[in-house]
Amino acid sequence: MEYLVIGAGPAGLQLGYFLGRAHHDYLILEAGSAPGTFFRTFPRHRQLLSINKRHTGWSDPEINLRVDWNSLLSDNPDLLFTRYSDRYFPTADDLARYLEAFAGACNLRIQYNTCVTHVSRNGCFRVTDSKEDSTRRSASSWQPVFRRRIFPRFPASKQRSSMVRLPSILKASSTSVC
Ligand SMILES: Cc1cc2nc3c(=O)[nH]c(=O)nc-3n(C[C@H](O)[C@H](O)[C@H](O)COP(=O)(O)OP(=O)(O)OC[C@H]3O[C@@H](n4cnc5c(N)ncnc54)[C@H](O)[C@@H]3O)c2cc1C
Repeated sequence: MEYLVIGAGPAGLQLGYFLGRAHHDYLILEAGSAPGTFFRTFPRHRQLLSINKRHTGWSDPEINLRVDWNSLLSDNPDLLFTRYSDRYFPTADDLARYLEAFAGACNLRIQYNTCVTHVSRNGCFRVTDSKEDSTRRSASSWQPVFRRRIFPRFPASKQRSSMVRLPSILKASSTSVC
């Protein structure tokens, strides 16, 4: 495996989509049982702050996407959040449903119920999931030869990475998953 992405929130799903589209071998590890675990619990009041701009008055999809606060990027216009809710103030359940549909439609490779507990680096990366602490120690321990951590390349990405939470992504130099 070439890339390991930790977390199937919106950012992890988006990374998986583009890694897959670029024909990279990747796997997303998700602690929860479905994508978008955050939105299945939060916000508690269940109403999103990110309004659903279905009726912008513009016909240009590029402009519409710029004011769309909820959709992930893909080549499929049917996979816009605006198709998943009619409400101006959609619910968090709508977004969770949308993220699950996105992951399914894009055939994203996600391993659920896998909580990463430790990432260490001693020349190469070693990623451990919570099951290592229980009976499945040998079956679930990741022992890949990860050599470097990848950060997104865009202007000011270094500053942003300290301000916002980005999904963890690790690149392997070879496949050696136990
Ligand atoms: C109260 C509140 C309200 C918000 N309301 C809105 C809103 O209305 N609209 C909006 O667009 N944004 C809203 N946000 C912001 C939004 O939640 C984040 O911008 C978004 O969730 C970030 O996506 P992410 O993929 O980076 O992280 P997350 O959504 O947090 O995804 C991280 C994923 O990683 C998984 N994970 C975590 N640890 C591990 C681990 N050790 N091993 C494996 N998997 C792991 C989690 O289960 C989760 O699925 C709100 C945030 C808060 C706190």
